[in-house]
Amino acid sequence: MHPKYVYAFEEGDGKNTQLLGGKGANLCEMTQIGLNVPPGFVITAAAGRTSGDTPSVPSGVMTEVRSHMHRLEQKVGKAFGSPTNPLLVSVRSGAAMSMPGMMDTILNLGLNHATLPGLLQQTKNERFGYDAYRRFIHLFGKVALGVPDALFDEQCEAIKRDAGVKADAGLRASHLRDLSARFLHVVQQQTGQPFPEDVYEQLAMAITAVFRSWTGTRAVAYRREFHITPTMANGTAVNVVAMVFGNMGDDCATGVGFTRNPGTGANEMYGEYLVNAQGEDVVAGLRTPKPVQEMQREMPELYRQLVALRNTLEAHYHEVQEYEYTIEQGTLYCLQTRTGKMNAVARVRTAVEMVHEGLISKEQALLRVNPSELEQLLHPCLDLQGAHPPVAQGLPASPGAASGQCVFDADRAEILGRSGVKVILVREETKPEDIHGFFAAQGILTSRGGKTSHAAVVARGMGKACVAGAEGLHIETKTRLATGDGVTLHEGDVITIDGSTGHVYLGEMPMIPPHFSDELQTLLTWADDVAGLEVLANADTPEAATQAVQYGAMGIGLCRTERMFNASDRLPLMVEMILASTTEERQQALDKLLPIQRDDFMQMFRVMSPRPVTVRLLDPPMHEFLPSAQQLLDDIAALHEYRVAVKGQTTAFQALGVSLPDDAPCEELITSVIAKKQQMLRKVQELSEVNPMLGHRGVRLGITYPAIYEMQIRAILEATARCLQDGIQVWPEIMVPQVITARELVRVKQSVEALQQHIETQYRRKLVCKFGSMIETVRACLQADTLAEVAEFFSFGTNDLTQATFSFSREDAESKFLPLYTASQLLPDNPFEVLDVEGMGTLMQMAVAKGRQTNPLLKVGICGEHGGHPASIRFCSQIGLNYVSCSAPRVPVARLAAAHATLLESR
Ligand code: ADP
Ligand code: MG
Ligand code: MG
Repeated sequence: MHPKYVYAFEEGDGKNTQLLGGKGANLCEMTQIGLNVPPGFVITAAAGRTSGDTPSVPSGVMTEVRSHMHRLEQKVGKAFGSPTNPLLVSVRSGAAMSMPGMMDTILNLGLNHATLPGLLQQTKNERFGYDAYRRFIHLFGKVALGVPDALFDEQCEAIKRDAGVKADAGLRASHLRDLSARFLHVVQQQTGQPFPEDVYEQLAMAITAVFRSWTGTRAVAYRREFHITPTMANGTAVNVVAMVFGNMGDDCATGVGFTRNPGTGANEMYGEYLVNAQGEDVVAGLRTPKPVQEMQREMPELYRQLVALRNTLEAHYHEVQEYEYTIEQGTLYCLQTRTGKMNAVARVRTAVEMVHEGLISKEQALLRVNPSELEQLLHPCLDLQGAHPPVAQGLPASPGAASGQCVFDADRAEILGRSGVKVILVREETKPEDIHGFFAAQGILTSRGGKTSHAAVVARGMGKACVAGAEGLHIETKTRLATGDGVTLHEGDVITIDGSTGHVYLGEMPMIPPHFSDELQTLLTWADDVAGLEVLANADTPEAATQAVQYGAMGIGLCRTERMFNASDRLPLMVEMILASTTEERQQALDKLLPIQRDDFMQMFRVMSPRPVTVRLLDPPMHEFLPSAQQLLDDIAALHEYRVAVKGQTTAFQALGVSLPDDAPCEELITSVIAKKQQMLRKVQELSEVNPMLGHRGVRLGITYPAIYEMQIRAILEATARCLQDGIQVWPEIMVPQVITARELVRVKQSVEALQQHIETQYRRKLVCKFGSMIETVRACLQADTLAEVAEFFSFGTNDLTQATFSFSREDAESKFLPLYTASQLLPDNPFEVLDVEGMGTLMQMAVAKGRQTNPLLKVGICGEHGGHPASIRFCSQIGLNYVSCSAPRVPVARLAAAHATLLESR
């Protein structure tokens, strides 16, 4: 016995999307909760898999299909293939994961020379009948017979030209009849066979083709891009649904709706519809549809029904739905529903509001928002102050603003985008074939189609800016021109689009960073309540610290002091310190640096108060503050030449008896500069290392030049004391980099304690300052138990630790062999981007365990890029870390990811 392959909508399990596909499962569910769905049935994805590569659907499957067709005939009171009362069906794809527009659907199946007259007779509507017929031949020809789309389009354009009309809607019944005949001819020519007349043959071929569209290039590319694996969706199911017609007259319509506004999240009716049109027309963007609010005036009773449909869907699914419907002669049918694709703004707002409305729990709301999606909220918008007026206006289809060069086709967009050029994809309308252009573009601009057109839906899903239906622009792909009211855009011209207003501007417009909505604040507060991990920020300047606080950082996990030395007013002092030939000279330079560092820390502490600030003592090798040897050699050579020239000039002036200007450079000055450069060169050569990253840096510097660390420690502690004097609470933590043995820590700690005592007496205040260690060498992990006897906290420096774990130098690895390693799956990911759980994770786990063995109160965290990566955060939570620290703009992402980690663990 084979498993059951076919389920009527009344019997399928609405939760079983793996078997029935998302579309099929929801059609079953909607039927069962009493919504008006046209009768139909689902052929399972499993049936599709048994078909495999065979040229047609196995007969076992077709036997079940036939018996379900008979039941369908009874339900609708029509007969499949009947010349008097023909039943027509759609054959629709639908996999477990929604892949909008990636697979195929055939409408009006069951039409042929015998049934068409029946349909015409019954509906007394020739235009409708021939329209349905030509659509069927077109879709079936394209999907099931592989006839190129363009051949049909050519015929259609030709007929329109002859008839002198622009839009399909202008074609009369006779035109459409001609068109059907031409289409049949195209099929015959292309396939060498007449168009199939037998309705069951049509059905079997359509089912086979839809199953096969799963492995079509478009679908495969989509799954690769969005990482849809076979466990998430394994083949498509096929839905066979009795046709209902939105194109039988002015009491008919078809539309797409969202239960809430997918751009803003507002709880309101949202969507678009077209009167007298068939399904695909709205999505294809061939005619620009009307906003659903207009239906309230145009068809008040149906609008009321639509509101009821929307309410039922939300009350049932407790999640924003995107639904498709058709109105056939005053009756509303629901044809599809699925979880609405929204941008991050809307996702956050609807999740938070649904909690307030009692529809879902806070935990559900948190899990509904994908942490990395929050980055969309950090999208820029336009600074409209003093802006010149827009050159075109379309619909605000996907919010955010973007600038780039106009590009008129997806291939070119991809080429330019790959090479790093910012582009805006400009099209009359987009099709699924354009998807690669979307990936490469900053934003999308179309001249046709509404807010539910392909361009709009796809752009929203990707969080890219989109302006759709800018009808004032005439876009010509062939000539690569867009012309509008007094404006001509050539390929390469820079424009700015504002997907939040629908405006299009010439040139690049200034942007302002986005703000944090109240809903997002609320959601992140809930996240903090749930999360087991604290989220700190890496920040080296007061500005970055201010931003970190705005994003909700609970402190600073990494303040890199060397960044403070690179500012142009400090670098000379740093150089002076490095070039010092005696201890006294070095101390003099450090004495000048001390007040500067102290001020830096005071500013940071003020901004962060009362949150903790972890300061890392100097880490990089000293030569990083000096010019390169080559640079110095070039300078010295140039100075020598210059000295010769100056000497010649002086002689010439003397010979002429003219006196030199007072401020003219003299030989002696140049000689002394050369001497300084040579001194620096000697120092650079002396400091030069074969492998600087593994060389004289971190605590090793602090041990060899104790005065440097002492200056820094003093600056931290004095800043603390002074802030306390001003009544500002500060919680400094001193962190030592590159540690390999507890003895290094002891050495530095002694100096902290001595200085602390001294400063406490001087300022007559008790200071509290934690002392800890970076864990970024393999030996530190192995020795974590002894380190934890000295350190109060650990912070994994995962960049260096990754290099140490792999024995890779990051730059060399990433530029030479890592891409090949990941492409050929020798490594699953770049370990510098995605924390290597298998390898380095084991080391980390061991270090945490050993550290807590000797110091149960040990606080452990992670700083570095990995600290802001959701999957890495998950792992950090699993191994019991106390905090993650990441760059300020990633703090919101990390806060939500930390909550996810806790929620998913407790499941
Ligand atoms: P997609 O997955 O691309 O949305 P669908 O299977 O939903 O494809 O079908 C494409 C269009 O045809 C949709 O607008 C849908 O509403 C419409 N459609 C599908 N089946 C029917 C039907 N039985 N009657 C009327 N319209 C239909
Ligand atoms: Mg489709
Ligand atoms: Mg659909």
